[in-house]
Amino acid sequence: YSGKSTINYFAERISNIKVSEVKSLPVVVSEGTSVYDAIVTLFLEDVGTIFVTTEGLLSGVVSRKDFLKSAIGGTDINKIPVGVIMTRMPNIVVTEPDESVLDAAIKIIEHQVDSLPIVEKIKNENGEEGYKVIGRISKTNITRLFVDIANTE
Ligand code: ADP
Repeated sequence: YSGKSTINYFAERISNIKVSEVKSLPVVVSEGTSVYDAIVTLFLEDVGTIFVTTEGLLSGVVSRKDFLKSAIGGTDINKIPVGVIMTRMPNIVVTEPDESVLDAAIKIIEHQVDSLPIVEKIKNENGEEGYKVIGRISKTNITRLFVDIANTE
């Protein structure tokens, strides 16, 4: 059963690695940013997903498919803000720095998304509670970890 023990070994490795150890920088825009400017940001930063904040707190996520949907729907991308097309809180799947990479990967698969914002609970200047975005973990980070583990054995 060497196949099974290989998988168990891998599962154990990734359940002992924290999200904070493999995170990358989040790309964040504010809710009033135009769809056009957000698309430019997507290209310039070379990401598939942008996180949206409102007064310092995570308020949305906007991905390639959201942009395509708005384009084929005839949105005036210069006038409409990302806030109109984004997926909104509380429907955002998040992870925290101490969560294991395995648990983050399970969330990515179960919710069928490409990436998760890594967050910290905070209160903003107005005393509102929410999440501060401190990083990003994506399918690419997890694939890179997979390759790194393979190369170090
Ligand atoms: P793509 O559009 O490139 O296929 P995703 O599969 O990640 O990217 O996005 C699919 C949908 O899920 C989009 O509507 C997007 O706004 C939403 N989405 C992306 N990431 C998250 C997340 N972490 N939590 C909730 N919804 C998300």
